[in-house]
Parts: sequence; structure tokens; C-alpha cells
Amino acid sequence: MQLTDSLGRTINYLRLSVTDRCNLRCSYCMPAEGVVKKGHDTVLRYEELLLIAETAVGLGIEKIRITGGEPLVRAGIIPFLSRLAGIDGLRHLALSTNGLLLERMAAELYAAGVQRLNVSLDSLNRETFSAITRGGDLATVLKGLDAAERAGFPPPKINMVVMAGVNDGEILAFAELTRSRGNSVRFIEYMPVVKEEGWQRYCIPGMEILKRIAAHHPLEHVDKGAFAGPSRDFRIPGARGTIGIITAVSSHFCEECNRIRVTSTGQAKGCLFSNEKIDLKPYLRPSDPEQLVRVLQGIVMAKPEGHGISRNGYGHKNFTMAQIGG
Ligand code: SAM
Ligand code: SF4
Repeated sequence: MQLTDSLGRTINYLRLSVTDRCNLRCSYCMPAEGVVKKGHDTVLRYEELLLIAETAVGLGIEKIRITGGEPLVRAGIIPFLSRLAGIDGLRHLALSTNGLLLERMAAELYAAGVQRLNVSLDSLNRETFSAITRGGDLATVLKGLDAAERAGFPPPKINMVVMAGVNDGEILAFAELTRSRGNSVRFIEYMPVVKEEGWQRYCIPGMEILKRIAAHHPLEHVDKGAFAGPSRDFRIPGARGTIGIITAVSSHFCEECNRIRVTSTGQAKGCLFSNEKIDLKPYLRPSDPEQLVRVLQGIVMAKPEGHGISRNGYGHKNFTMAQIGG
């Protein structure tokens, strides 16, 4: 079965958030005090998340990425992932993490059936990493990356949010990881999720990031795989990992968008930056699988053509990425 929106885009990718809580406080993602704790009743139970996933796969979703907040801080995540991995028709199960708990959990994640890990890592310098994450320990994340490979995962993809004057001096060091460690690295433009005054000063366009790398290394274009995300990918010849740029701000990839999102509180969204969302709880409590099918189809059909976050006055409501799952 294929899920197609009103503009003919194939929708095969669900980002499913399991919590908005996190063991870090990245400055670009959430406020220093963290997110307001949600009551147990507000956050979807695993059974409810599974029903959403099964329904979505029945409609044509082939890839699910588990995200958060930090998904590994939610109790019971491993048995949940095992059940998710067992959904008939799901071809690809991935998980995004800050890596802090990977050293302890990588083997269980692999055994549960997670196929790929994305690890967010914005600096290879201990102090800068600690400043961006408001207290995170770089060495723990690096140990987590090693543990993931020991457990059997391919080298995790590394996501780096590039911020001018904060970590842009490390672009080349991250590009080097594609050769030295074999990780694929995706450079993400800083997105104004919380539109703080002067957010533009942090934003370095993806093309500028590429130019800085290309000034030191030849880059060859890499064709996207079947479950490619929104990055444009390149490779330093001979490197095991690829270099990707995610240009959500400077140049949208909306015409190729293949995803929908569901937050940990059951809010379904067709676009990260759209103010439109639908609460799925009424179709989960009590469960109404037929209505859930209709509502998910409706979200896909109502997917907007695109967003305009590069325009200064663009009117999305402030949110933290941890609430939606990136
Ligand atoms: N905690 C996990 C992690 O950090 O990978 C998963 C959730 S996190 C919200 C998902 C992704 O969103 C991360 O790669 C993070 O870097 C990205 N992100 C958060 N805020 C962002 C922002 N303002 N601009 C660009 N990317 C952002
Ligand atoms: Fe937590 Fe991930 Fe947000 Fe950082 S980016 S605060 S690790 S949810």
C-alpha cells in the first residue's frame, strides 16, 4: 500500500516521539530549566504508540524513527522497540539519541531490532560540548559511539547543528570523522524553533558549510538510498562515511518531504513548522482503529506544500524541538 498526499508526495516515514524529557538541555533545543513535566495521562502509553505505528504501517509507512526528547530515558523502551520491530511491513526502524546512555544500552537496542542509530553531537571539544548541552559529558557520548559498533550497528550517523561562532570552527574536524571513524555526518542548519531575537546570527547556510569543506577536500555526490532523509549527501573520495547537509532554513526540501510526525502526547503533525496538529488521543482512549486510519490519512492529505521559516515574519508558534522530536 502506498500513502500519497494531495501533492503526489509519497509519505513513507513516521517520526514517533516517545517522550519530551531529556537528560541534556541543548541550548538550541530546550530552555535551561527543561520542559514542563507532563502528567502520566498526557503522555501516550506504549500500547497507544504501538497502535499508531501499526496503523501507520498498514497505511504505507515503511520507516519509523523513534525520537524525543531523549528516547532512551523512558522506562520500558527496549521491550517497546522489540514489539515495534516486529510490526509486519515495517522495513526500517531507526532511533535518534544524544548518545549518553548508549554505552549501557547499545547491545539491548541492537537485540531489540533497531537497525540504525543517529547520534547528535555538536562539538568534539569537551568545553564547547558541555556549554552547548548545558553540562553534557563528551567522553560518555564517544564511548557510546564505540559501544554501538561493538554491539553490531553500522557506524552511527552523527548530526551536528552548526552555529556560527559556537562550533563552526569544527566543521572540518567533523568532516574528517567520515574518514577516520567511518561515521556519516550530517550538518544541520540551526533552526529558529524558539525565535529568539537575532537567531539569524547562528545560521550558516548549508552551501557555505559545503564550500568550507570543499576548500580542503574534493567531494563527490552520493545518490540517496531508499529511506533517505532530507539531506543532500557527498563523500570525500575513499571515506566510508558520507557528508550531508540539511538545509531546512536556506533551501527547503519540502517538495521531497516524505514524513509525518507524532509527538509523545499524541499530537500528529504533517509539517514540523505548521501550527496545525491533530490530537490522536480521542481515537486511542478508547481505541478506535477505523477512525485512527481516517485521521492519519487526513493528516497526510492536509500536509502543507511547504514552510517559510527563512522569512523573518514567518508565524509558527514557538516550540522546543524536544516537544516534537526534531
Ligand atoms: N535527543 C535526541 C537527539 O538529540 O538526537 C532526539 C531528539 S532531538 C530533538 C532530534 C534532533 O533535533 C537532534 O539531531 C537535534 O540536534 C535536532 N535539533 C533540535 N533543535 C534544533 C534546532 N534548533 N535546529 C536544528 N536542529 C535541532
Ligand atoms: Fe535533548 Fe536531543 Fe534536545 Fe539535546 S537535542 S536537549 S539531547 S532532545
